[in-house]
Amino acid sequence: MSHLDAPLPVDRPDLLSIRAALRRLLVRFGPEYWRTCDSQRAFPSEFMRTMAEGGYLGTLIPEAHGGLGLGPSVASVIVEEINRAGGDGAVVNAQMAICGTLVREGTEEQKAYLPQIAAGTTRLLTVAATEPDSGADMSHLESVARRQGQDWVVDAKKVFISLAEHTDLMILLVRTEEGPTLFLLDLREFGTEIEIRPVDMIANRMTTMLFIDGLCVPDRCRLGSVGGGLRGLMKGFAPRRVLAAAESIGNARFFLDKSVQHAIDRRTFHRPIGQNQGVQYPLAQAYAKVEAADLMRWDAIRYLEDGRDGGGRSALAKILASEAAWETARAALTTFGGWGLASEVHVERKLRDATIFVFNNMLLSYVAEKVLGMPKSF
Ligand SMILES: Cc1cc2nc3c(=O)[nH]c(=O)nc-3n(C[C@H](O)[C@H](O)[C@H](O)COP(=O)(O)OP(=O)(O)OC[C@H]3O[C@@H](n4cnc5c(N)ncnc54)[C@H](O)[C@@H]3O)c2cc1C
Repeated sequence: MSHLDAPLPVDRPDLLSIRAALRRLLVRFGPEYWRTCDSQRAFPSEFMRTMAEGGYLGTLIPEAHGGLGLGPSVASVIVEEINRAGGDGAVVNAQMAICGTLVREGTEEQKAYLPQIAAGTTRLLTVAATEPDSGADMSHLESVARRQGQDWVVDAKKVFISLAEHTDLMILLVRTEEGPTLFLLDLREFGTEIEIRPVDMIANRMTTMLFIDGLCVPDRCRLGSVGGGLRGLMKGFAPRRVLAAAESIGNARFFLDKSVQHAIDRRTFHRPIGQNQGVQYPLAQAYAKVEAADLMRWDAIRYLEDGRDGGGRSALAKILASEAAWETARAALTTFGGWGLASEVHVERKLRDATIFVFNNMLLSYVAEKVLGMPKSF
């Protein structure tokens, strides 16, 4: 066992077995596999097929709907291990977690998709909420759905939408007269009427803009109540923050594993660079922060799995883990010097991956208001 491989801070032998099984499976999907996907902006199809065969995609889907009915602890170990192995857990994270909204809000007809999502034969990878003008401000959506008899006519413009070119199902947030409302769109039915344009990004490479112009959508596609769309989405935020925290912990441990080994192996001035405090201390500092963030991640999971309100703990876990990963990436760059920028070393790609999680202002506002009781800032 590596000195970085501390036992889990929870007494869960099942999680250790899952972690061991994943590590065996992920040997086939190491950094080089992900480097190719990244450089080609390619969907990791073979990886997703393998994850589906292993049953992992149904982790959070109830057994009654063809899933495993397991909790965020298992899901978080899955995405952590993918990232720690040098990969990108975003696609598995999306497929596991987005269907929480479908489980909670869906009609029986809509829930018929769940066994297919668990099996990986139908992909639910995308939530389209953000808009070019309103950005983080979901209370000012310009995308609309207007009633037309029993149907709805949708006009929407969305930006920063992940994986829209690769999903079968998409959850779309638009405004109706009664307020924000969700629709579950099967792109095999509506896809040709939605324009999807890639956005060139340094990370989250399969990002898009969407344009929907006068699309007629039957009411059976509405997900949850009319006007209840934002609440429907927000119920899934706490588990999704825990998964974001776990992805960040996985990224951080990837940087630490690689950097500590490099600091021991690489010699300049006739000694290992890891003998220098200028190399040691940033790694030791980062390690301390990652371990602390990981404890908060497990505390948040305990709240969620005990059925308590995990909003505050999950926000803290996501903030601490994403910042710890960012600091660890910086320490990795110091350790690798010029090689840190070479794609074959994988630090630069993972550093780009780590940027995805560092936007924390909305969460800080949440903590200030909901946990610390300060005035609402927006
Ligand atoms: C990698 C990535 C993947 C994404 N995937 C999706 C997706 O799949 N689906 C989707 O709908 N969206 C997605 N998003 C969009 C994401 O939710 C938005 O970036 C976010 O809502 C903010 O919108 P914006 O980028 O336009 O920033 P803006 O709203 O313009 O804000 C810019 C900055 O100002 C800060 N800010 C704004 N208002 C306040 C305030 N009142 N107080 C404090 N700070 C404030 C923000 O936090 C941000 O840091 C993704 C974004 C990224 C980076």
